Parts: sequence; C-alpha cells; structure tokens
Amino acid sequence: MARADHPDIEKFLEGVKTRNPGQPEFVQAVQEVAQDIFPFIQDKTEYHEYQILRRIAEPDRVVSFRVCWEDDENNIRVQRGWRVQNNNSIGPYKGGIRFHPTVTEGVLKFLAFEQTFKNSLTGLPMGGGKGGSNFNPRGKSEHEVMRFCQSFMTELFRHVGDDIDVPAGDIGVGAREIGYMFGQYKRITNRFTGVLTGKGLEYGGSLIRTEATGYGAILFMQNMLEHIGDSVEGKTCVISGSGNVATHAAEKLVQLGGKPVTFSDSDGFIHDPEGLTLEKIDWVKDLKTNRRGRIAEFVDEFKGASYQAGERPWGIPCDLAAPCATQNEINGDDAKTLVKNGCLAVSEGANMPTDLHGVEAFKEAGILFAPGKAANAGGVAVSGLEMSQNSARLSWSEDELESLLGGIMKRIHSSCVEYGASSGESAVDYVKGANIAGFKKVADAMLAYGVV
Ligand code: NDP
Repeated sequence: MARADHPDIEKFLEGVKTRNPGQPEFVQAVQEVAQDIFPFIQDKTEYHEYQILRRIAEPDRVVSFRVCWEDDENNIRVQRGWRVQNNNSIGPYKGGIRFHPTVTEGVLKFLAFEQTFKNSLTGLPMGGGKGGSNFNPRGKSEHEVMRFCQSFMTELFRHVGDDIDVPAGDIGVGAREIGYMFGQYKRITNRFTGVLTGKGLEYGGSLIRTEATGYGAILFMQNMLEHIGDSVEGKTCVISGSGNVATHAAEKLVQLGGKPVTFSDSDGFIHDPEGLTLEKIDWVKDLKTNRRGRIAEFVDEFKGASYQAGERPWGIPCDLAAPCATQNEINGDDAKTLVKNGCLAVSEGANMPTDLHGVEAFKEAGILFAPGKAANAGGVAVSGLEMSQNSARLSWSEDELESLLGGIMKRIHSSCVEYGASSGESAVDYVKGANIAGFKKVADAMLAYGVV
C-alpha cells in the first residue's frame, strides 16, 4: 500500500489538524512522520492499542510565559517565551532555544516533535524539547540581548535542570546568548550544573559543539554518497543560510574536497562561482557572529561574487545542496529546479527546510535526500556528549570528539539504510528510514511504561 493511502492516516491527521488550529508547521511535521509510521505499525497491534503515535504527537507539556525587558531607550518591552517538552521517554528533554520574530507555539511544537525522533536516532539517552521567543536579536545592542536573555531565564529556570530538560542554541541563540542564560541560571539557583549545552569552553562547554551540526550534515552527505560508491570530492554545493550550521557545513565540505558556492540570509543570497575557501568562510563567520552584518556585504569584499536580493540559491546549478537556514525554504518548484540542474544529493542542515511537495519531488526523482532529523543530528549528539562530560566533570579532546561524531553520523546512516531500504528498489528512502528508526526506540520505551 502506498504511504499516504493508508485508510487510518487521514482520520488521524484530521484529528491532529483539529486539535492544533493555526499550527501548520506542526501538522506538516506530524504528517511527514505518520506517512511512514502507519504502514510500519500496520501489523504491530501493541503500538495501536497503546496509541503510541497519537501520544508522541501530543507534547507532555507546553509552558508559555511573559518576558519583560527594558531597551536602551528605557522603554518596557514585552515578549512571549515558550518551552515545549515533547517527550522524555528515553532521557531528559533536550533541544535548542530559538530567538526569531517568526517563532510561535506551533513552530516550537514542530521542532520539539522532530527533536524527539532526532535525539532517538543519535543512540544517546535524550528526549525531545524545544523553546524560544519571538524576540528579534537583529539590531539589538549587546546590553539589550543580555537583559533579554536574563529575563527569559528568570522564568525558564524553574522548568529546566540537568536531569529534567537541557536546552541549547538554535536560530538567534549562539555562544553569547547561552553564556548570558547560563550566568542567570547560576545566579538564581546557585548551582553549577550542565543545564545548558553549547557553553563556552571555560565554563563546561565541549570542543566541536559549535561545528557539530554543519560538520555532521556533510558527513551524512558523504555517507550517502559512499553508499552508492561516490563521494563529495570535486562536487559543487549550494548552501543556504550563513549562520552556525551553514558556515560549518561549508567548512567540512572544503575539508573533504568539495566546493561550496553560495550563502544566504533572510535578505538574499551570494554566489561565488570560484568557490568559498576557508578564508572566505572565516570572513562570513566573523561578519555574522561578531559584526552582525548582512551577507550582501560579501560582494564588496570578494570580487567575482554576485548578490541577489530577496532570492534563495536553488536556481544555481550544483551537484549537491545543503539547506541550512530555516523551515520550508525549498518548495516543490525549487526541488524540481535543483533536480533539473543536476543535483544528486540533498542533506538538510536546517530543520524541515523542504516542504512536503519538495520532499515528494526529490523522492520522485530518486535523488539522495537526507531529512534534517537524521542529517543535522550531529549537533545534538555532541550536546549529549557535553552532558556526559559535565556529569563526569571531564573534558574530552578534539580528536576524540570528532571521531565520536563521525561514528554517530555513520550509525545514524546505517539505521536509515536498515529501515529505509526496500527490496526491489535501489534508492534508500532516508525519510522513511529516519522516521521508523527514531520512532521505534521511543515507542518501545513508552510500551514499557504502560499508559502514563
Ligand atoms: P543561526 O541563527 O546561526 O543562522 C540562521 C541563518 O538562517 C541566518 O543566515 C539567517 O539569516 C537565516 N534565516 C533565519 N530565518 C530565516 C528566514 N525566515 N528566511 C531566510 N533565512 C533565514 O542559526 P543556526 O545556523 O543555528 O540554525 C539554522 C538551522 O539549523 C535552523 O533550522 C535550526 O533549527 C537548525 N539546527 C541548528 C542546530 C544548531 O546546533 N545550531 C542543530 C540542529 C538544527 P539572518 O542573518 O538574516 O537572520
């Protein structure tokens, strides 16, 4: 039976839509998973009887709170903050914090749902959660960002803990914001514990955590290509975003002999046909992290590059694509354009950057397509290793951590192949493989607990 044609799935999705009005991203994320899980559990009655998928698609809790702060002109500003604790069946809730004006409860629910499967795929004991605020860090001064982070943590601290829920960074939240939030947590609770990951190295952070998501996405790409006897070496890659994930994806690509040619931000994208060298990538890291500038500035610095305002890079001919900015940035038409221009593999560094039409287009074309929950799991995997180091009061070396990350990405790839390869079909369905492998571990733990 075809994935979307299962008789119960429509009824299930109707229920999800009705219970979550105005939350299209959440419904989309559940639909993508349900399409693979329904056929998988067809002959497994205990998963039906215990309503496992229905329960995973209902967060354990959603905490919503007011965040007040004072701007540099002494105006009182009011933002909304959330923490979505989706599922802690296999470990404490774990997932990033996003500060961006597009953040809503529905967006965070989709991210926490996805995170549950992703964390399970890493093989580490972590449940799924996500949090954030509609606060826009763009254009804010250092002190405004600090005051906002402190106010955010003044409420969040009562919902998190090293054995309860361990947040990390995401869009708009990097080492600077994690530092301010950890400082406030420590001040309020008088406890120095591993309550956040992505911390500075001086106060409990882990080496290669910053690099891990982008590096992991390209390592996953390499695993997919090696599986068909190919490699990233010599291949041209379009990348979206210019933040943490995008710049480190580009760096790993260069290390493996590939050629990244684009970066983007919410205003447009740059194209550098000669390829983004490590020097150019470092310049972009400095632009975005320290100077908080716009990607358009790249063309003033590097001759031969061009900038297109208001566009995304999917029309640039390429062999590989790594969407590393945000959700739903590749639609059906974009996906068809990529395929038409010769793209043979896509690895999602961002969460759900390809919409359902885009995923269908990649599948129909039979190209290699790695969903974010598998491809970008390297970040949370190293966060899990940061938690282990914090508990043991130890720090592991860079080589050790790089090798652990490489091993984890390889194992995630193998799990996807185990559940995503169909007899008679040559291409591995990585979406199906990731969904089933991620689901099974959480589902079996939930069965063991009974109805709680
Ligand atoms: P950053 O804030 O470092 O960078 C985000 C980048 O995406 C920026 O270039 C930003 O542009 C761009 N962007 C954000 N929103 C939009 C939008 N609506 N339209 C176009 N461009 C946009 O975030 P990260 O690199 O950390 O995160 C990127 C993606 O990776 C997200 O989907 C995140 O959930 C996912 N991810 C991140 C992990 C991590 O470890 N950091 C782990 C796993 C997944 P601008 O500068 O204009 O805002």
